[in-house]
Amino acid sequence: MPDPSIESAPNAVRSPTHAPLVALVGRVNVGKSTLFNRLLRERRSLVEDRPGVTRDRVAAPARIEGKEVLLVDTGGLDPDAESGIPALIAAQVRRVLADAAVVVFVVDARAGVIPLDREVADLLRRGSGTVVVAANKSDGPRHDDQSGEFHALGFETVVPLSAEHRRGITDLEVAIARCLPEAVAPAEKRDAALRIAIVGGPNVGKSSLANCLIGEEQQIVSETPGTTRDSVDTRLRVGDQEVVLIDTAGLRRPGRRKERLERGSAYLALRSIERADVALVLIDVIDGVTDQDAKVARLALDLGRPVLLVCNKWDAVDERERRPELDRQIDRKLGFVPDAEIAHVSAKTGRGAEALLPRALALFGGLRRRIATAEINRVLQEAIDRNVPPASGRRRARFYYGTQIGDAPLTIALFMNDPKLLSANYRRYLEGVFRKRFGIKSAPIRLQLRSRGRSARGGAAEGEEAIRNR
Ligand code: GDP
Ligand code: GDP
Repeated sequence: MPDPSIESAPNAVRSPTHAPLVALVGRVNVGKSTLFNRLLRERRSLVEDRPGVTRDRVAAPARIEGKEVLLVDTGGLDPDAESGIPALIAAQVRRVLADAAVVVFVVDARAGVIPLDREVADLLRRGSGTVVVAANKSDGPRHDDQSGEFHALGFETVVPLSAEHRRGITDLEVAIARCLPEAVAPAEKRDAALRIAIVGGPNVGKSSLANCLIGEEQQIVSETPGTTRDSVDTRLRVGDQEVVLIDTAGLRRPGRRKERLERGSAYLALRSIERADVALVLIDVIDGVTDQDAKVARLALDLGRPVLLVCNKWDAVDERERRPELDRQIDRKLGFVPDAEIAHVSAKTGRGAEALLPRALALFGGLRRRIATAEINRVLQEAIDRNVPPASGRRRARFYYGTQIGDAPLTIALFMNDPKLLSANYRRYLEGVFRKRFGIKSAPIRLQLRSRGRSARGGAAEGEEAIRNR
């Protein structure tokens, strides 16, 4: 029997839009990436727990002390090779800093304060976010005392911690949460238009594709600067559906110098994807699938968006020769995109462009639906009958029922005796079954495991459980 309070909140777990930004900043090798992964894994983030895939994450929604945030790893404030100072901090890292509600300034407690830390501190003081200093690599109490010297950087809060050894993580989370705004700004007002973000690394052809799609359409309704400075929104009509194309701004202006930034451009992608319903992730077939492509695709899935992989520039290569290798690369580097939808286009010649937006619409359309609780339980029952959850010690996961609590991404709550009993493998198995039965392609699906003692609902009889466990 579905819990009415859950049924009434169908969008309870939609990805946070306009969640406050928490940025990890610091020199290379101080442990930002380790801390990033720790913060995602420790507290139950919205990100599914898949082993071995965190290295390609640069940003992800996370929950810190119960508050939803977007956690961004800015990479390194690498000093300029010549001057030795971080003078050339990428413009896009500056953007992250300007947008951040909280900046976690990660330093190396073992190295102590070095001149570069002071320069970074000067930079951060000029930003708007509250700065919390994370004195990382404080692997034992001895280092905690050492971390005191970081007060010299001029920020109130210094938290000694060890990302690697899980010390002080909660202290850091509490410190971050204290600086977060109480109320999250209301999400941008939405209309009936479907929003499609064109994202990808530098030079893959984002602006060319946007121009090509806009050129195809005779009925451009308007072009307005996006709500952020980084994107231009263009309204078009595809059949009777209004579409807003979200394209990285500036880059479309001719003659503007391209910035060649790695993690920074992932941040721009993040801001675009956040505002979109579907992400078109561009791949340059000349270069093949890059790590950057994987990062952007990962980001889109983490944010709960369906992904259409768009291989661009086919006019420039011999397709028969190139295609097999490209397919292999997609398998290898983008294999995490489930049942990936792939399109092959040339923004230059217009090949394949016409079908692109209809496909994106179909991808999203497939998600917008309500699946009856009875149907979910039928599928869940079949899955369990076919493959009984393995026992963990003397106990075994038992399911009571499942129910949809969100769409786009499809989110299903599974009520069970004890979520801890469910292995990551079995969870993936269930995800796969749901994905297949409900036809979810190229999009994430989320399972929320909830424990419910059988007596918790006022002594519901066993007969009321939708699922027969063996
Ligand atoms: P980033 O360049 O700032 O992202 O740093 P990484 O997260 O890649 O970490 C750099 C190195 O520091 C790696 O070898 C980590 O294993 C190590 N490291 C990270 N956190 C800790 C820690 O808490 N203690 C110690 N001793 N080493 C750490
Ligand atoms: P962005 O940085 O992702 O917006 O990429 P641009 O749209 O500015 O394109 C980068 C470069 O790739 C430019 O020189 C484009 O002319 C070129 N380009 C884009 N699409 C295609 C294509 O379909 N075929 C070929 N041959 N070149 C393309």
